[in-house]
Amino acid sequence: MRCLSTRGKSPPVALSEALRRGLAPDGGLYVPERLPRLDPAAWPDHRDLPELAASLLGIFFAGDALRPALPRICRTAFAFPVPLRSLGQGDHLLELFHGPTAAFKDFAARFLAEAWCELADGEPVTVLVATSGDTGAAVAAAFHRRPGFRVAVLYPEGRISPRQAAHLDGFGENVCTLRVAGGFDDCQRLVKTLLAGAAPPGLGWLTSANSISLGRLLPQIVYYAQAALAHWRAVRRPLSFVIPTGNLGNALACVMARAMGLPVGEIVLAVNANRVLADFFAGSTYRPQPARCTLANAMDVGAPSNFERLRHWFPEDRTLRAALRADWVSDADVREAIRATWRRFGIAVCPHTATAVAVLARLRARGEPGDFAVVATAHPAKFAEIVEPLIGESLPLPPALAEALARPARAIRVAASEVAVLAALSAQ
Ligand SMILES: *Cc1c(COP(=O)(O)O)cnc(C)c1O
Repeated sequence: MRCLSTRGKSPPVALSEALRRGLAPDGGLYVPERLPRLDPAAWPDHRDLPELAASLLGIFFAGDALRPALPRICRTAFAFPVPLRSLGQGDHLLELFHGPTAAFKDFAARFLAEAWCELADGEPVTVLVATSGDTGAAVAAAFHRRPGFRVAVLYPEGRISPRQAAHLDGFGENVCTLRVAGGFDDCQRLVKTLLAGAAPPGLGWLTSANSISLGRLLPQIVYYAQAALAHWRAVRRPLSFVIPTGNLGNALACVMARAMGLPVGEIVLAVNANRVLADFFAGSTYRPQPARCTLANAMDVGAPSNFERLRHWFPEDRTLRAALRADWVSDADVREAIRATWRRFGIAVCPHTATAVAVLARLRARGEPGDFAVVATAHPAKFAEIVEPLIGESLPLPPALAEALARPARAIRVAASEVAVLAALSAQ
């Protein structure tokens, strides 16, 4: 399938070319030319997630250079479970945090790593990633010790949780972690300038793994498909989702799943005090803002990068507002949702997941009917310093996370300048 740029000023390209490039040459984001339609009643009951992934993504990759490798890519990338837990009374929890870095970013990062390995042809690749937490770890883990690849992770010093920092600092080898003396915006700006300039000698092909890549969206359709199909087969009703949202990457995959005919009901975006989307869906003009710090730090986004894709599919405010709903919650609401979920179900949720828990509770209090799944985007132990005091218990770390956190710190501190970053990378 061919891909188009949202800005319409670049020629269409094959899907694997869109994955290679990340951003389109006109500065737009790649979108599939059209979304395939499928009939849930006729769709085969696949044995497991990798098999479902290969057949679903196979529709997009039909005729593409990556098509033959897709079953292998999916088997390697989607090698962990995605439980849909029932909480009773139509409420569910879709757990996306059983991958190696305990956040949903593992799905896309691992898929992208496998796909790029197929596409690289032995050419050395340097993957740049600016992170405010989970993306950097997922990308670093997906490429760690992979021959031919180097990863440079840039994170803002002192602005991410201690556990997130320990995680990123511990990779080493082909992963170069740079602790930037600046904010997340500085890290993003540095990645953009480096990508825009000529690749310095020795770094090979420079690319980015930030959420602008279509390769970050497509793999995420798979878990929505699996959950919605399983639910629909069991009760013949669609499943609605409440999605903790920052850059809209995860939610957009759900929008695509529904547009493809999968049994997805309502799609509700849960945002934190960065309420640009909530305000827009409540009727205000879309107005990006500088990001504010909250407890759900991976969602501290004031200008969601994927809004441009949403606009491409829904050019009119009216149709866009009819397709999705959104609500925002405060840090106090997040704390209360963490406490309440622990009290009622004995389940600890991370601050991001808690935003969706709070939004669903509000909907139910207003009498919202139907079956809903809260999308659990990260393991609570990743944010132990917030969650543990609220529930009064210590949380065991998932084994992969415990192993990652035990590694010695190897990050390099750099000034927020292109020269400093390049010098650190060449010294490696
Ligand atoms: C990245 C992230 C989000 C936000 O996802 P988007 O795709 O940017 O909307 C939510 N929760 C967690 C834990 C994350 O890491």
